[in-house]
Amino acid sequence: MSIKLRLGGITANSVVDGPGLRTVVFLQGCPRHCPGCHNEELLRPEGGREVTLEEATEEIKATISPLTQGVTFSGGDPLMQLQALKYLIQWVKQEFPRLDIWVYTGYCYEDIKDLSVLERVNVLVDGPFVKELKNLDLIFRGSANQRLIDVAKTRQIGQVVEWQPQVW
Ligand code: SF4
Repeated sequence: MSIKLRLGGITANSVVDGPGLRTVVFLQGCPRHCPGCHNEELLRPEGGREVTLEEATEEIKATISPLTQGVTFSGGDPLMQLQALKYLIQWVKQEFPRLDIWVYTGYCYEDIKDLSVLERVNVLVDGPFVKELKNLDLIFRGSANQRLIDVAKTRQIGQVVEWQPQVW
């Protein structure tokens, strides 16, 4: 386990980055610098702190409770640290199979749809934040160009299917 990663932080029990109570793992670094980005301190690739994968998994594990619904990988752009992201997602799925996985990225789905890391992702929130399209009424995203993509259904039918919240 020699891969290291730059971690911006880990938040427990978030309710803003996907449904239910979630652990959010912020991976450091994003090259885009979109005007109005809400996580500017996470853009510098050399920011945050360097940790081993083992240290990261220990920190994630400490945030998981019986009430946790899933783990969200955000940033920065988590795809900038692809190997580490793949490892962490695989680890979550093995250790906590009941948890769902959300990933935020500045890439559009069509440009990354063949990445193997998506095989274990439940929902991909795609596209950069666009200030002119900012809309505070949107759930789990900042601007109207961003989509909450149900990855399994999208891959099954070959066109984007947006995730829908469960209605109780
Ligand atoms: S892609 Fe996302 S994280 Fe990167 S600069 Fe744009 S809004 Fe910020």
